[in-house]
Amino acid sequence: MVIAIDGPAGSGKSTTAKHAAEKLGFIHINTGAMYRGIALKCIQGEIDLNSSSEIDKILNQTKFEFGREAGSVLFMDGVDISSEITSSLVTESVSRVSAVPQIREKLVQYQREMAEGLDVVLEGRDIGTVVFPDAEFKFFLIADIEERARRRKKEMETMGEIVSLRELTAELEERDRKDSTREHSPLKKAEDAVEIDTTGLSIDEQVNRIVKIVNKSIK
Ligand code: C5P
Repeated sequence: MVIAIDGPAGSGKSTTAKHAAEKLGFIHINTGAMYRGIALKCIQGEIDLNSSSEIDKILNQTKFEFGREAGSVLFMDGVDISSEITSSLVTESVSRVSAVPQIREKLVQYQREMAEGLDVVLEGRDIGTVVFPDAEFKFFLIADIEERARRRKKEMETMGEIVSLRELTAELEERDRKDSTREHSPLKKAEDAVEIDTTGLSIDEQVNRIVKIVNKSIK
C-alpha cells in the first residue's frame, strides 16, 4: 500500500511522513533526500548538468538505502549522508538538479522499485501525480510561508547554521517557484489528494489526521 505525501518545502512532510510511517508500521521513503543526494554528488564531482553522459555516470553508480528503524536516515553508496544533504550548499542547488528530466526519470524508477510490494509512506513533490498516481492515499501539505521559514530556521540552528528569517523566506519562495514551474513533473496537488494546512498544527495533530484517515479506511 502506498501513502503519498506531497507539498512545498517546510510544509511538514518529512516529520509527518516519518511519524505516520512509524505509527502505521510502514516504511518511510524521503524522495527529496534522494534528489539532495544526487545534488551533493553533482557538487562534489563538479558535474555539468548539460552533459547527459556525466549525469548518466553518476546515476548508474549511485545506490540508495533508507535505514529501517530510523526511516529518515539515508545511505548513499553505503555512507550515511543524512546531515550532509541538509546543508545550504545542497539546498541552493537541488531544485536545478531535480529539474533535469534524465535525473527525474531515473529517480522515479528507483522510487517505484524501492516501494514495490511494500507498505510505504513516500514523501516528495510528485508522488501522487507522477510516481504513484494510483496511490491508495494522497495527502498534500501546505503551510504559511512565515511558519515554513521559522521551521527551517529551527532545523538549521540544530545543525549550527544561523540564517535570518528573511533569507530563509526568500530561499523557500525561490525553491517553490522553481519546483512548481519546472516543465517536468512540477510540484502540484493531485486532484484527489486531501489537503492539510499544517500552519499552527502540532506534529501529533498532523500525524493523527493522516493516521486516522488511513486506519478508518483500512478497517
Ligand atoms: O523535500 P525536500 O525539500 O528535501 O526536497 C528537496 C528538493 O528536491 C525539492 O526542492 C525539489 O526540487 C526536489 N524534489 C523533487 N521531487 C520530489 C522530491 C523532491 O523534485 N519528489
